[in-house]
Formats: sequence, structure tokens, C-alpha cells
Amino acid sequence: MTQPKFLSNPSAEEMPRSADVVIIGGGPAGTAALWAIERFAPGTRTVLIEKSDQLGAGSSLASLENFRTCWPALCLARQLARSVEVFHNADEYLGEGAAEAIAIKQQGYLFVAFNEQQAAGLKSDVQRLHEIGLPHIEYLEGTKVAARFGWVGEKVIAVKYDPTAGWLDSNALIYRYAASTRSAQILLGIADVQICVENGRVVGVQTPQGKIATDKVLIAAGASSKAIGRTAGVELPILLRPRQSFTTGWRHEMFPPDAPMIISAAPHPHVRPEARDGAIFAWEYNWQNKYAGAEYGTNSQHDAITEPLYPVQRLKDPRFPSITLALLARQFGHKDGTGFADPRYLRGISHNIGYYVYRDENAAYRLDAEGNKQPYDSERAIIDAVPDVGGLYMSVAHVGHGIMSSPAAGEIAASRLLGLPLPDPIFEQFGLAANWVEYDEGVL
Ligand SMILES: Cc1cc2nc3c(=O)[nH]c(=O)nc-3n(C[C@H](O)[C@H](O)[C@H](O)COP(=O)(O)OP(=O)(O)OC[C@H]3O[C@@H](n4cnc5c(N)ncnc54)[C@H](O)[C@@H]3O)c2cc1C
Repeated sequence: MTQPKFLSNPSAEEMPRSADVVIIGGGPAGTAALWAIERFAPGTRTVLIEKSDQLGAGSSLASLENFRTCWPALCLARQLARSVEVFHNADEYLGEGAAEAIAIKQQGYLFVAFNEQQAAGLKSDVQRLHEIGLPHIEYLEGTKVAARFGWVGEKVIAVKYDPTAGWLDSNALIYRYAASTRSAQILLGIADVQICVENGRVVGVQTPQGKIATDKVLIAAGASSKAIGRTAGVELPILLRPRQSFTTGWRHEMFPPDAPMIISAAPHPHVRPEARDGAIFAWEYNWQNKYAGAEYGTNSQHDAITEPLYPVQRLKDPRFPSITLALLARQFGHKDGTGFADPRYLRGISHNIGYYVYRDENAAYRLDAEGNKQPYDSERAIIDAVPDVGGLYMSVAHVGHGIMSSPAAGEIAASRLLGLPLPDPIFEQFGLAANWVEYDEGVL
């Protein structure tokens, strides 16, 4: 008898007894790995375990669902180029109807500059992007900006534009990954998993409903990955920062429905049209550990926490929407009652929060002249085997682009799990041993 693909709160009798690979976590990282395993090795018996009663129950719920190719670190540029290729050919890669389901809006990404210094920064970014094989990224200034994007207003003097970028329905993407696998079983509502290790090797995964024997496990549980790693006796080198977003049901008239995603100048608030009349905003503003409290573990070298606080909604700063709007209004020169300073933006806001997961100081650092480690905030995920435990792998630290990078991240994870060569040798830089790579620091 064929087993059903989705099992919600399965009974002990319904539980699979064994699998070739068990994936823990049903967000973009876990489901994309499921999809890629099936592509590379059809018929592999995979089991995905998700603690919630639905897939995509982590950070993707708060995300802006954007994607872009303009990344200055070569490994990220290639990872995103491959991923965007999958999105643009969704029916081919994710099955018929996928393009309609994920509903790409390819409206681009527009980074704006308000002064000469910011313009020079964008110009040199574009030069670098051209050098690494991204000729489609444009730099525009002066009258060219006014001619193409006049609605941004006179204060904007230059822009960097990625025309291949856009946004999509991330929940549909996650479910399409899951649907495209013939040999997978997806277990929902399994709250407590423990990785079983014997003689330094994975032998199975214990759940309250029973044990699944396997010799390969992928940890892809976002902010909860550290806790899952500990069940196998390992400490994954990741840290967390809560990040907020909000959606409004209203958008000012000058901000057209076909506008690209706008990334404003430092400190980089960003916004794009959402639905017919609304907008969605985010801003990576400094996190204050005082809101989390010492019991959640602070990381003194980074402004971050080490243990997730749930529900993460408790960490929302109620001032966030009004502060973000005020910042944008100031930058774009909108007077009280107009543009981003129009009070109608503040009506009926949906305010969200989720975790960004980063490499910690053991996985992202430069060595200075004296040989001392200088930690930095890396944009690179860790997609690799976990040292010291045979058969254990991780796809973690997807920072603020885990949806857009998920197809290639899934392929990297699948290659690692199946013992295949990486799809591109540069993807070694998502390995644990790659502690630093060029252009991975201070990048937007
Ligand atoms: C405000 C904000 C804006 C963002 N904007 C974008 C954007 O525009 N584009 C983009 O690409 N990315 C964006 N991101 C980042 C993106 O959401 C993350 O990088 C991505 O969701 C990470 O995927 P993941 O699968 O690693 O983790 P998650 O999405 O967090 O998924 C982890 C999954 O594991 C499950 N899980 C947790 N614990 C367990 C357990 N013990 N057992 C089983 N399952 C478990 C969770 O329920 C969840 O379903 C944004 C994030 C935030 C917070």
C-alpha cells in the first residue's frame, strides 16, 4: 500500500520505521533539500519532520519573499543566479502549475542614493557585479533616474537596479518543493525529535511516536537548529537576531503598483508594493539584547542571542512601523501628511517578526596580522556535514535570504547527503571550513 505523503500527528502505527534520509525542519531549507534529493537520486526514501501542523512555520512567515541576483560575493552570486533560474522556470523544475502557484512578480530591486558618497558606493558595487558576470545590473544617475523612476522623487540622485529580481509566494514555493517528491513522507506536528547517535554515527531519529532508523539526518530547523544539534551532542555555530517587517493595506499614490523593491540608503529601510493597494516594509535595525533578557543567552561579540525565545512575537517592538515610516519619509523628503509620512499607512498594520540565523564567531572570522580571529557578520549559510558525527548534516544560517537561495541551497545539501560533487565548486564556500570569503562582509 502506498503511504500518504503528508501525515499530521501520526500514530505510532502510521510512523515510518526507516528512511534513507531524515530531514528535520519544513521551512525553505528543509523542503528544498527534499526536492533536490528527489531530483538527484529519484526514489531515495526521505522523511521530513516538521514540528508545526504546517510547513513553512518559521522565519518565512515574517519574510518579504523577495529575491535578487546582485550579490558581490561570488558564491552568493552563483547560488542566487541558480536559484532565480529555478524560479523563472518553475514549471520545469517544480512541476506543471508551479509558475502559477509561486506567482513571481519580476518588478526588480532598486537601491537608491541621496548623496554623492552613496552614489559612488552604488557605482562601485555595480562595477564589482559586472566583473563577476552580472552585466544585467544597472547603475543610473541624474536624468536617467528621473526618466525611468521619476516617482522616487528629486532627492534620489543615483540608483543600482536589478531587473531580474522580484518576489514570489514563499508558502506556495515550500509546498511545491514538498509536492514534487514522489518518495518522501512528511510528518507534521512532531514537536520533539532527538537524533540518535551510536559510536559516533547517526543511527536514527527518536520521536514521541517512535523511532525512525536512518544513517543520514539533515538539520534544517532554522532558529531551533542549535537545540536539535545538542541532541546529537554537537553545538552548531550559529546565532540569532530577531527581524521585523510590517504590511500595510494602503500605499501612497506616487508609489506605483509595478514599482520595484526599494532599498533606501543607510540604515537601509526597504519597502515594496504588496497586493493591490498595500506595501510591505522591513529594516534590519540594531537589535537590543535587553528585550530578550540574559536567560536567552547573549553573544557579546555580536549584537545577537544564542537561544531562540518563543513565541518570537514577544520580541516585537511596537514602535517599529512608525519609526521605519518616519525614517523613509525623512530620507525621501516627504513632508507631514504626504508620501511615507501619510498617517493612512499606520491604519490596519500587520506587524511580523522572525529570526535571522547567522554563522557565529567560530564559523565567520578573518585572521588579523597577529593571527587573532576577527569575527564578522557573514551572509553565507552553512550547508555541510557536521564534524564528529558521521551521517549528520546541516543547512542553517540562511540569514535574510533563505527563501531566495533555497533552490541552490537544497541542491548543495542534497549533494552533500548523497555524496555527489557539488553543483559548482564555489559552493565549497558554504562549508564550515570557509571561515571568510571576499565581499561577504558589510554587505547589504
Ligand atoms: C523580517 C524578515 C524578512 C525576510 N525577508 C526575506 C526575503 O525577502 N527573502 C528571503 O529569501 N528571505 C527573507 N527572510 C529570511 C528567510 O525567511 C529565512 O532565511 C528562511 O526562512 C530560513 O529558512 P529555514 O528553512 O532555514 O528556516 P525557517 O524558515 O525558520 O524554517 C524552519 C522550520 O523548522 C521547523 N522546526 C523548528 N524546530 C523544529 C523541530 N524541533 N522539529 C521539527 N521542525 C522544527 C519550523 O517550524 C519551521 O517550519 C526574511 C526573514 C525575516 C525575519
